[in-house]
Amino acid sequence: MSTLDEVGERDGWRCWLCDEPVDPDGSVNSDRGPSVDSALSAKGKKATPGAERLAHRSCNTGKGKVAPVVAWSPDLFVVDPAPIVATVDRLARKGGQEVVARCPSRADADQAAAWLVDRLARFAPGLAVQAKVEPGGGQFLLVLRAV
Ligand SMILES: [Zn+2]
Repeated sequence: MSTLDEVGERDGWRCWLCDEPVDPDGSVNSDRGPSVDSALSAKGKKATPGAERLAHRSCNTGKGKVAPVVAWSPDLFVVDPAPIVATVDRLARKGGQEVVARCPSRADADQAAAWLVDRLARFAPGLAVQAKVEPGGGQFLLVLRAV
C-alpha cells in the first residue's frame, strides 16, 4: 500500500476519474477530499499492486461504485463516443486499434484526438497510445491505437 501523499504526488493531485484537481489539504471526510482508489480493470478485477490512484472521495470506485467511468469532455463534438475505460482496457490487453468516436468535421476530430491523448496520459500513464483521424462516410473517424 502506498500512502495518500505518495499517490497524490505521483498523480499530480488530480483525480484519475474526473480529471479535476484534488486539494491535498482537503478533509479526507469530505466528498471532494483526497482518497486512494485501487485501480480496477474494466472487468472489475484488481489491478497489480502499486496501481493505487488518487481520487476524490466521492469519485472513488471503492466506495460502492461498480466500475470506474471516465467522461468525454462536454466541450468536444463527438458522435457515438466509446466508453473510455473499456476501450483502454482492451487496448492494454490486446493492442491494435479501435474507432472511438465519429466527428462531423476534421477540426472537431483533431480537437477530440488531442484531448483524448492528453486525458489518457493521466488516466492510463502505462499505456502508450496514438490518436489519428480518418475520413469515412462523410464524417471523420477518431481512431485510437496502442503503440
Ligand atoms: Zn474526482
